[in-house]
Amino acid sequence: MMQPSMPPGVPTVALSCPWCNCPSSPSPAAQECQGCRRKFTLSPGPALDGSVIAPPPHPSAFPIDLKWSIVVTYKFARLEQGGLTSGTLDPVIGMAPIDQVGIPYPDVVSIAVWRKLAWADLIIGALVPVPIALLCLWATILAVPRAPGAAAIFVVIALFFGLLAFYLFRRGAVVGRRQARVVGRHGAVTVLFSRSPAFHSELFRRCGLMAPPLP
Ligand SMILES: [Zn+2]
Repeated sequence: MMQPSMPPGVPTVALSCPWCNCPSSPSPAAQECQGCRRKFTLSPGPALDGSVIAPPPHPSAFPIDLKWSIVVTYKFARLEQGGLTSGTLDPVIGMAPIDQVGIPYPDVVSIAVWRKLAWADLIIGALVPVPIALLCLWATILAVPRAPGAAAIFVVIALFFGLLAFYLFRRGAVVGRRQARVVGRHGAVTVLFSRSPAFHSELFRRCGLMAPPLP
């Protein structure tokens, strides 16, 4: 793909790998960083590529709200009719923004999307439901000849914790921590959107882009 020329005043971070900030070019599909070999998508926004036009706000466009925690405070992001707003919420009630950056859709220079493993889910899944499920399975095998009633209860418990482990592993490895870095002319934000399936496609649509497949 042709390297778009960087208009004056555009932050250099706009054309970089979201993992390591190594320079990179936009591409319609997922790409692998030349520096760190990790995967991401990088799409040019309306402020970088003249052929991308953010559509006028649709009167019925609903806002999409996200909230996620970072150590002690919460971050939020909101897709509004005219643009994306994101910032930090107060640490006491986690409701009032204490700082925020707004990027109107026509000012979006680039969008990078990448996915990390959600280690907390994977570790909790391996440490809690897996051993309980295995223990109950073992108890089922022992109980079958002597106490079939108890065996039936153990097998139900084993099944429940097996499903819980499956759910946590799926959330950790398949869904993961999905992140989008949106660079505007006058600021950049990073949004964690794992919990909102609609965020990704709506962000791209409102910027006048087709959403690339998730990396
Ligand atoms: Zn990289």
